[in-house]
Amino acid sequence: MNTRPSSWHRLPSNNQRGSPVTTIRQVLNDARQQLQPASPSPSVDASALLRYVLDCSASHLIAWPDEELSSEQLSLFSDVLQQRLQGKPVAYITGEKEFWSLSLKVNSDVLIPRPETETLVEFVLDHFSDREQLSIADLGTGSGAIACALASERPQWHITATDASAAALAIARINVSSYRLENIELVHGRWFEPLEGRNFDLIISNPPYVASNDPHLDQGDIRFEPEAALTSGASGLDAISHLAELASDFLKTDGWLVVEHGYDQQQAVHACFEYNGFDEIIQLNDLAGQPRLTAGQNTSKA
Ligand code: GLN
Repeated sequence: MNTRPSSWHRLPSNNQRGSPVTTIRQVLNDARQQLQPASPSPSVDASALLRYVLDCSASHLIAWPDEELSSEQLSLFSDVLQQRLQGKPVAYITGEKEFWSLSLKVNSDVLIPRPETETLVEFVLDHFSDREQLSIADLGTGSGAIACALASERPQWHITATDASAAALAIARINVSSYRLENIELVHGRWFEPLEGRNFDLIISNPPYVASNDPHLDQGDIRFEPEAALTSGASGLDAISHLAELASDFLKTDGWLVVEHGYDQQQAVHACFEYNGFDEIIQLNDLAGQPRLTAGQNTSKA
């Protein structure tokens, strides 16, 4: 008996039961099953990877479930699925991540923008909504996510975004230019170092704040992210303390420092802001209900 499938020349992949997997529906189902033990979000991942391979929208996958993939597409999909099965974050495979209303370029030189960081963007837009002009320094900008979100919402505001990593700044530059955000200035340097002699209305940062021995560092997507963007000393608070200590030298009178922090760092950050002379302090939870943000105003600054 000839067991060779009639379409053998198209080299279809087979699922575990041996049936060919060639249509959008079959590829998605099969990928979902394979991703089950490897990913916390198998369906979302399968769909994102297939959209990347087919360069199509999510609605295309739903509208055309019986569309056949070409052998090139099947082989590329199998390649990206393998990468995901080995743990690589979807955003690093596709090179893209949605943040605010933007689709940002990312790679392993930058932290993957997270939904909880939108809390910081929202706070700044709400709290300073009456300010026509505002000068902001975004320290440790990474992919430029926060700076790009604010700059796209408020073209009159001026944002100086710094990063110690030239590789990260190269990614931020791509994002800034792809959205033509002329109100962002990118500056290479660690925290305040490149800002000597300058003053801002607002200093914002999503600094590294994970404790260096946090067991989460060995789990999931975070394993692939740059350590310098994640960890900050034994308590995770080194960068935030540094920012709180120096911020008033770089703030205008009544200026604000706004930082993202860990869910369990709310009290420590409050104490640190108080110690460094911030008198009006606001703390907010993220959308998941976790403490995530501290803002402080230094009204005593001469
Ligand atoms: N929120 C991130 C996490 O815990 C950490 C990001 C950061 O350190 N800025 O995974």
